[in-house]
Amino acid sequence: MGIDILEKERIKKLQSLLENKEQRVAIVAHTNPDGDAIGSSLGFYGYLKQKGFHHIDVIVPSGYASFLHWMPGNDDVRNATDDPENTLKIIAQANLIICLDFNGFGRAEQLEKPLQKSTAVKVMIDHHPDPEDGFDLVISDTSVSSTAELVYRCIDAMGDDTLVTREIAECLYAGIVTDTGSFSYACNNPVTYEIVARLIGKGVDGAYLHRLIYSTYTENRMRLLGYSLSEKLQVIPEAHTAFISLTKKDLERFHHREGDTEGLVNYALDIKDIRLAALFMEKEDYVKASFRSVGKMDVNRLARNYYNGGGHVNAAGGKSYLSMNDTLEAFIALVKKGFD
Ligand code: 5GP
Ligand code: MN
Repeated sequence: MGIDILEKERIKKLQSLLENKEQRVAIVAHTNPDGDAIGSSLGFYGYLKQKGFHHIDVIVPSGYASFLHWMPGNDDVRNATDDPENTLKIIAQANLIICLDFNGFGRAEQLEKPLQKSTAVKVMIDHHPDPEDGFDLVISDTSVSSTAELVYRCIDAMGDDTLVTREIAECLYAGIVTDTGSFSYACNNPVTYEIVARLIGKGVDGAYLHRLIYSTYTENRMRLLGYSLSEKLQVIPEAHTAFISLTKKDLERFHHREGDTEGLVNYALDIKDIRLAALFMEKEDYVKASFRSVGKMDVNRLARNYYNGGGHVNAAGGKSYLSMNDTLEAFIALVKKGFD
């Protein structure tokens, strides 16, 4: 399914790279992994196990939201921030490295150099624009909803649909659901729904997974959401822009945990006539910026040109090294002036 848009040669190469089951495989996702990064990584992990691989590790550069911890295989994920020594050893010893949901080693943060240095065969499977060099095989398609969907397409194109268990299907489904805002964007393609239909056919309970992902707020997270919308949301109607800013103090007040602000930026985009939404979050050494947009407003370019970041046309992120106040001032000036 979807083989027409996947180049057959690349699928053949991937297939040949997966022939030797004795090799050591490292699956790596991007920093601050989201549902698609974890879903595609654990989906691929499950698939390789089904194929008979014995030495597979899943590595993430940093931790991730607890609403993703239910995914089958989650307990096997190694966080490079918590366990740098072992993760570096795994990368150095790997024969094959599969990078999922990112388009350049820099997105693996502290693992950038170790990945570059590794002599392993390196594969990228991703859907972000402008994949970077340094990989032996790149399977990249920006028209696909999610890396999880692309992983399914690859598995199917290799003739391995029958290896997809319910557990693998759950991971891939989670990746598709989270990267499409529950089928509300980036999925206006019948193939995505056909793949989802197949995953449901494997035993996925969509309603149940939806609750695991979206309806397990802690009280603190829910109150942080309320506070952000009532106290920290600013609207610039003439620039069709709305943004939320959260200082360290704000986050501490609500005992912020990893993932608590996931999805928050989308609320700003739900205001009528708003086309650009941003979330600024104060971290230890920088301000993390998240951007979302509708239509042709290109936040990938905004993030690349002004925030040392990147992403997709309608969803991107980056960093500002100014203070929170200066960051907001610069952002307001930028959107008022227009950044194209
Ligand atoms: P979020 O705003 O949820 O962190 O990320 C939205 C999108 O932008 C994701 O596709 C993510 O991979 C990308 N993104 C977020 N932060 C960065 C960054 O610092 N650099 C790059 N290149 N992409 C980012
Ligand atoms: Mn993705």
